[in-house]
Amino acid sequence: MEYSDLVEVYDALGATSGRLEKETIIAGFLKKLKGNPQWIYLLRGRVLPDYDPREFGISNQLVIKAIAVSFGVKNTDILKKYRKIGDLGEIAEEIAGKKIQGRLFSSKLTVKKVFDNLQKLMNIEGKGTVGKKMGLISELLGQASGKEAKYIVRTLLGQLRVGVADGILRDAIAEAFFAHDKKEMSDKIETAYDMANDFAVVYDAAASGRKDLDKIGITVGRAMNVMLAVKAKDIEDAFRICGKPAAVEHKYDGFRVVINKDGGEVKLFTRRLEEVTKQFPDIVEAVRKNVKGKSFILDSEAVGYDPKTKKYKPFEAISQRIKRKYDIDKLVRDLPVELNIFDVLYIDGKSLMDEGFMARRKILEKIIKSEDYKIKIAKQIVTSSEKEAMDFYKEALKIGEEGIMVKRIDAPYRQGRRVGYMVKLKPSVKDLDLAIVGAEYGSGKRGGMLTSYIVACRDDDKFLEVGKVSSGLKELEQDEGTTYSEMNDLLQPLIISEDGKNVKVKPRIVVSVTYQNVQKSPSYSSGYALRFPRITAYRADRHVRDVATLGDIRKEVGKHTGNSGPGSL
Ligand code: AMP
Repeated sequence: MEYSDLVEVYDALGATSGRLEKETIIAGFLKKLKGNPQWIYLLRGRVLPDYDPREFGISNQLVIKAIAVSFGVKNTDILKKYRKIGDLGEIAEEIAGKKIQGRLFSSKLTVKKVFDNLQKLMNIEGKGTVGKKMGLISELLGQASGKEAKYIVRTLLGQLRVGVADGILRDAIAEAFFAHDKKEMSDKIETAYDMANDFAVVYDAAASGRKDLDKIGITVGRAMNVMLAVKAKDIEDAFRICGKPAAVEHKYDGFRVVINKDGGEVKLFTRRLEEVTKQFPDIVEAVRKNVKGKSFILDSEAVGYDPKTKKYKPFEAISQRIKRKYDIDKLVRDLPVELNIFDVLYIDGKSLMDEGFMARRKILEKIIKSEDYKIKIAKQIVTSSEKEAMDFYKEALKIGEEGIMVKRIDAPYRQGRRVGYMVKLKPSVKDLDLAIVGAEYGSGKRGGMLTSYIVACRDDDKFLEVGKVSSGLKELEQDEGTTYSEMNDLLQPLIISEDGKNVKVKPRIVVSVTYQNVQKSPSYSSGYALRFPRITAYRADRHVRDVATLGDIRKEVGKHTGNSGPGSL
């Protein structure tokens, strides 16, 4: 396949924000992919499966140099243009477009060539790295047309901006191979993707039929997405969602660790799919010593504690252990962690994904030997009594835990935020429910998406603006909570008018917004402004008629909340 075919797909995707249209465009492309499933990664600007979160890590500087070398232009000229336009993709397009007319021979760039060079870029290490990377990039740019150069540069910089989210790709695979029962197959594809975390594998299976999709399972030793929790309003709500009786567990305030043991090797992954084995030799040791089984996958929360007082610490206190790659021994001593294991997904050759939660818990109890301040099974009760659950909740808060998790006892393990399997309950800081009435397109990583939101309260049937909020949503799908991309998808169909980067939208979307305080302000139509607002939740369950009123806003003027402003978690 020629790269220009893929470029056409990119252009078409970029030109529409309609989800169905995007799915049709992608489905058409997918039908031509047979034999080369890995090219599916290019649709999202990548050359690796999602379980491998590595990025190209190519700087603007390197791209500028590569453009300069490939087209014989001066670095400084490119830099000047960059300062004005701010998009190296467009600059590459312009320069390549001009140069191409003067070219005597030009061989056509193929998808294979682009994919192979991009993949090689990922694996270059050691001496002469920059030179080798430059070589691979210039080889591509040297053969590229204007448009091709634009997308090569955008891919390298991780800014493809054509809007292909997981959900769209899943539905496009369903449309390409199961057009007649797209809805049902889209769910199957979602499950298969959750297991494999690799769209090439899912594509291949889908192309050969429904049975092959069912065969896809989890793989030990590889990063995987985890099950996420929905927020419950209160105990009654939690039972309503998870059924009675339900398992109630302490909610530990640490970070998620997925533990893999495959024969002799233990590997640890975060929820963002990053491997953190080297950072946590203490966890590896505890797992080796206290967990029975040749191979397994465990889901857990690691919680920090003070080595002297043995008091538990909030997550921020130990967050550096995740990132730091040196002085590990000292960190292990100063910031020890205790593992609280709450699930098992695989044991000695058998996937437990489809077993009920209590059956999995029984296995956990058999394979884990608890040792204080090293490794424990999550504290749990199984109850139908709201009172008992409430007492458990209070006890958890009293000893400093974040709250509780309530889990359906017969639920299989499923990745993502599936309604009805597991909910969280914790006291929340003060926030207001507000309607989104306008938005602004972001730039950089958030480019092409509506990522700043004008929020409004209600005054009878009018909506009055109270501020602009651009923080609080999540960047990535695997993060818990609504992502910017999901919010963009929700808002696009609601656009009423556009003015440059700003749009007005029909008031349909409700968000909970926390803030430091409310001040009088002439900038917004309500006459008030929220200071340091941050979205805490997208309230899909609420109607705009239920948002805060102007009266509610007035009541808040001058009051301070627990939100300590920008930078607070
Ligand atoms: P939140 O981060 O507030 O959305 O709450 C969900 C997170 O709580 C999960 O992703 C886990 O990291 C963490 N957690 C703490 N204790 C448990 C538990 N017993 N079961 C499941 N998740 C837990």
